[in-house]
Amino acid sequence: MNNVEGKVIVITGASSGLGQETARHLAAMGAAVALGARRGERIEALAEEINGNGGRAIAITTDVTKREQIQNLVDAAVEQFGRVDVVLNNAGIMPLSPLERLNVDEWDQMIDVNLKGVLYGIAAALPHMKEQKSGHIINVSSVAGHLVFHGSAVYSATKFGVRALSEGLRQEVKPYNICTTIISPGAVKTELLEHISEADIKEANQSYVGQVGVTPDAFARLVAFAISQPADVDINEILFRPTA
Ligand code: NDP
Repeated sequence: MNNVEGKVIVITGASSGLGQETARHLAAMGAAVALGARRGERIEALAEEINGNGGRAIAITTDVTKREQIQNLVDAAVEQFGRVDVVLNNAGIMPLSPLERLNVDEWDQMIDVNLKGVLYGIAAALPHMKEQKSGHIINVSSVAGHLVFHGSAVYSATKFGVRALSEGLRQEVKPYNICTTIISPGAVKTELLEHISEADIKEANQSYVGQVGVTPDAFARLVAFAISQPADVDINEILFRPTA
């Protein structure tokens, strides 16, 4: 037993990058995974791959900015697998830009996905976990949730916010035996930078992450570490960066 085996784990943003790799990693360790993202064909293909390898996975097309859709994802996990042990609120977007360029629609999108999406994930998970008197909510922040760099003002605001709401959650859910973990990754090579609309900012970030970024398995191992702990240990926060 590795303490991951048998757990039921909901992962948002499972169609690429960190979420996709974590789904593969945890399923290979024996977890049942419920995969959510907007690109249904991608998560269906991943679920097929996991089930084909002898694992257990379901895919539910989910937009985390729609509260009823993430509720449906968590409820489907409970219906299919009997309970929900972990919710990994991983879905996120990072269209970086300086404030003065006034990409206000992108500010709205970041707030909707990175902040409200996490809150809706918590809202979907909590009633089940309170009833079970057990559970683990993992929220993905960022190094940008600890500091601000050129073009990151709004993204950082959402990721600082994820840390604040996760700390509040930690304080409140103790009586229900629910663990909470914030994971703040540094540069990891994924699709995250592809959606930056400002050419200069995109190029600078792609150059940096291309040089130093690690692969998503680094994140997947840390999620496994956090959820592998014995029931009396709650890993509250993990911050990692590429050694380079
Ligand atoms: P990717 O762009 O590769 O993956 C992002 C995932 O989020 C995709 O699966 C995407 O799926 C999903 N997503 C985006 N919007 C929505 C939405 N409205 N509803 C549901 N799912 C959505 O990036 P990463 O894997 O790198 O990012 C994962 C998390 O890690 C993010 O929160 C990011 O901020 C954080 N992070 C990443 C770092 C890095 O260097 N890579 C560093 C620090 C933090 P789809 O488009 O199919 O909906």
